[in-house]
Amino acid sequence: MRRYDDTYKQKGLRKQLVDSIRQKGITDENVLQAIGNIPRHYFLDTAFEGIAYEDRAFPIGEGQTISQPYTVAYQTQLLEVRPYEKVLEIGTGSAYQACVLAELKVSVYTIERQKKLFETVKEFPFKTKYPNLRFFYGDGYEGLPTYAPFDKILVTAAAPQIPEKLLHQLKIGGKMVIPVGSHDIQRMLRITRMGETEFDQEFFDNFSFVPMLAGKKG
Ligand code: SAH
Repeated sequence: MRRYDDTYKQKGLRKQLVDSIRQKGITDENVLQAIGNIPRHYFLDTAFEGIAYEDRAFPIGEGQTISQPYTVAYQTQLLEVRPYEKVLEIGTGSAYQACVLAELKVSVYTIERQKKLFETVKEFPFKTKYPNLRFFYGDGYEGLPTYAPFDKILVTAAAPQIPEKLLHQLKIGGKMVIPVGSHDIQRMLRITRMGETEFDQEFFDNFSFVPMLAGKKG
């Protein structure tokens, strides 16, 4: 069960969360404002209501998690989005990250491989706030060729290596932010497409995401 009311207490806790993320090193004020605007408890079962504003990941069912707010802010900051850009997200999960992007006025295309999670976000009333947000059920390794190319691609699951097909769905000058590595630990990478076959890589901090798995799950 979920509850969709935003009390003064929750607003206060959210402010504290934004402050703590700022203290951890996030400097992009637009990103911090987006986190401050979105009631994270809407994305969680009421069982987590009291702790929804702790800077932690929580289970959302099907063995998956809603990312830690700091991680969401970190990835979003690295993505350097500008209003009206086309952004592809791999791993919709709870749709929290997708709503953070939508709050930044970009056009969001988000893919989830698990049918149940996809069905849940499709029913999610909060999403009606964002006409710039579209949900897809599919395998993120394939990307969305019909809608490519994208200005930005954000992968929110741990990739064992950089998915080749996604690289080719980036515009020239476009950027992809993706955690790459083993099951336990991944390094955050930002890849910029410099030319038709030329890509630049930058390396950031280590994180621990749930794995990016191949194929759809019905
Ligand atoms: N962005 C999410 C957190 C995602 S957890 C949020 O804000 O809540 C990672 C998600 O990626 C999980 O829901 C998982 O099912 C999904 N996933 C894993 N591999 C995938 C793939 N190949 N294609 C699409 N989604 C995938």
